[in-house]
This record gives sequence, structure tokens and C-alpha cells, in this order.
Amino acid sequence: MKRGLLAQVTALRIGKGDAVLVHSSAGAVEMVEGGATGLIRAIASAVGREGSVMVPASDSIAPAVRARRGSRFSDHPAFSFTAVGRNADFLTRHVPFHYPLGSESPLARLHQLDGGVLLIGADQSSNLALHLAEIWADMPYTRRLRLVHLGDDEWKEMTGDPGCTAGFHKIDRILRQARILKEGKIGDIPAQFMRIRPLTSMAGEMLRGNPEALLCDDPACRSCGLARKMVRAVSAI
Ligand SMILES: [Zn+2]
Repeated sequence: MKRGLLAQVTALRIGKGDAVLVHSSAGAVEMVEGGATGLIRAIASAVGREGSVMVPASDSIAPAVRARRGSRFSDHPAFSFTAVGRNADFLTRHVPFHYPLGSESPLARLHQLDGGVLLIGADQSSNLALHLAEIWADMPYTRRLRLVHLGDDEWKEMTGDPGCTAGFHKIDRILRQARILKEGKIGDIPAQFMRIRPLTSMAGEMLRGNPEALLCDDPACRSCGLARKMVRAVSAI
């Protein structure tokens, strides 16, 4: 066990019994001692036998989680997660096809467990839990459709396609003010940990005040451009 790494994880206020969703940037984790395997070992050790660790299947550290004994996989064709630990099964089973990041999703289960989100070398634009907040705040743009490939020639239309995340950093200031972010380092990489309940509730409040609050400002962004139109169309009714 890399004691230094474990101490850094616990310093972020991650403790025994916690369920933690990890988002990392690929380049960052390579620089941590022991790479993805060492990192997951340190987080699993911090949360202990009663805790759980989950990552999106698309995250570069997902193979290291999947390699651990007892790991589980949520089999959504577009948005799946890998989890390990006491609540791995609860987090990943019976996931809904529509709104894959909404109610009953692994993110909603993490919320039920009062878990948290750990960002390693990544900012809020990686934080899928903010999509859960958008869906729960009933933002019109969360109702968008996506054609999902099920295999061979099979496709199915999915409701609840998550949009652009480039504007998610706009929540940072209020999270800092509310002291919801615990900031530190993993190896030499900046890391931050936040509980998902206060995160989604602050994001929900922000979105109910201004439904465009988490959209990005890039005029070329088609996702956010369309989202703004949808918000304005609904508020004009
Ligand atoms: Zn955008």
C-alpha cells in the first residue's frame, strides 16, 4: 500500500463506508504512483469493506476497477458504470434505458447511499452527477433523444440524452462558497471531493433560478445553442 496515496485520499474526507464515484483525466492518473491500479487500491482501502468505488466505463481507470474481485458492470449500451465493493451490485443493477443518468441510474443510487464524487485531474465538466441535477430540475433540454446502437443492425431511440458539459465549471464558485468542495491532491495531481446530495441540491437551486446556468458560452456549441432554444420555448408558453 502506498501510504502517501491513502493519506491523500482520506485527507479529502473520504472515509470508511463511503460510496465514491471517481472521474479522472487519463494523463493525470498515469502520473500517480502505481497508476490506475495503485489509485483504486488506495481509494478502496480508504472506504474499506463497507464502502464502494464506481467509475464510468469510459474513464481510463475503469479497467483497473473491473479487474478487482467482485466488480460489477451496469450494462447500459451508452452510459455504463463499473463498481466494486459492498454496494457494487446495488449501484449497477437494473439500470433504466431512458434517462441513463437520471432516477434509478447508478448516479441516483449513489445519491441514495449519500456518496460522493471524486475528481482527479478533472474539473466539473467531467462530473456526471450534474446531469442528474439537470434531470431532477426538469430542464427542458434533458428530454433530448439519442439513437443508441444495441448491436448488429439494432438501434433504439433513447430519451434523456445528456448534453454539453463545458459550462459545468460555472457551479464551482457557489460550491466553494458553500464549502462543499474539499480540495487536495492525489500524488501531485489536483483532486476534489464533494458529497453528491449537497452538490445536486445546489445545482438544482441554481438551475431553477436560471435554467441556462450550466450551459456553455461557446457560440459554436450546437448542444447548448439548442438547449437555450428549448429553455426559451418552454418559458414562453
Ligand atoms: Zn456547450
